[in-house]
Amino acid sequence: MDILPILPCAVLVTDLQGHMEDASLEMVTTLLGAETHWQGQPMECFLPPASRVFLQTHVWPTLFQTGAVREIHIKLRDPQGQTLPAMVNARVTACEGQSCCIWVFFIAPGRSQFEAELIGARAAAQALALNLSQANRELLDAQAQLRAQAQAVEASNRALNLLSQTDPLTGLGNRRMLEHQFARWSPAPPDRAAGHQGSATVSLLLVDADHFKLINDQWGHDEGDRVLVQLAHALQDSVRRSDLVIRHGGEEFVIFLPDADAVVAARVADNIHAAVARIFPGQRPQPLTVSIGAVTVVHERDTLALDSLVHMADTATYQAKARGRNRTVAALPPTQDPSPT
Ligand code: GH3
Ligand code: MG
Ligand code: MG
Repeated sequence: MDILPILPCAVLVTDLQGHMEDASLEMVTTLLGAETHWQGQPMECFLPPASRVFLQTHVWPTLFQTGAVREIHIKLRDPQGQTLPAMVNARVTACEGQSCCIWVFFIAPGRSQFEAELIGARAAAQALALNLSQANRELLDAQAQLRAQAQAVEASNRALNLLSQTDPLTGLGNRRMLEHQFARWSPAPPDRAAGHQGSATVSLLLVDADHFKLINDQWGHDEGDRVLVQLAHALQDSVRRSDLVIRHGGEEFVIFLPDADAVVAARVADNIHAAVARIFPGQRPQPLTVSIGAVTVVHERDTLALDSLVHMADTATYQAKARGRNRTVAALPPTQDPSPT
């Protein structure tokens, strides 16, 4: 039984030059055209130009070399001129005593659409990836902006904080700064030789301008302000780098001397009296004088209270005033009376 005509796929038999000799019905109706006199014609008649080149340069050479080709993708053309994607298997064989080539075409008209859909999907995926990287860039930009804003806020907070701890007239710190610095202060390593293990020596001076009200009354408030600024400079010039000078209020200043014993505190107080003696309020020949209360304690850091230090220094200042002003009085431990240095 000759089953070629009834095979349910496009099958073609050619000679080794590609002239068509026999074909299945499916081949005839799909590619050759029932009306056409195709027998003896070259098989190129149902191939578009690119496929013809492919046939000559690749398919035939492979067939001659190996005797067969498998799963070759190729474009065909139907009698209406429509392009059809197909896969072809072919084999050189003997047919009625002659060499011939049998071609089987698996035509897949849906493949073009599938390929187009694949290309479309790839383009969509590329567009999505592009959008994603754009969105990522925007996100990074937004993060950088947020970081910059946070830094700016932090900087302005620091500036505000500094401002809130600064006395506008003298530029010195105020009480808030003293509290802040005192809270951050940690004593130097314990002085083993002195037997002060785990404790620290700290001093504090309270400096109060003498008869300051008279300066205001006699030379005016502006001159009083100028004297306060000069006094602030004199205090700042008289202390060590590690000491903190703040304006405690009015014509009162506090100097915090970390790790300073009574000798150091007395030396700083002497420096202050000498520096203040170079300030002459208004036109008067007498220089400004100050009264200083000094306190020195050897104390466990954790139990040392700023308020009690200031209070002791204040009491000593009061004593200095009572003893004629323009002097320093060192506060003695709470049970004893203050005595002049
Ligand atoms: P004492 O020797 O007892 O300390 O006398 P005093 O006059 O210095 O002390 P008193 O407390 O009687 O007066 C302080 C004066 O300091 C009164 C106040 O007007 C003045 N004062 C306080 N703050 C300022 C300021 O910022 N500028 C000026 N110009 N004067 C100020
Ligand atoms: Mg005062
Ligand atoms: Mg005063």
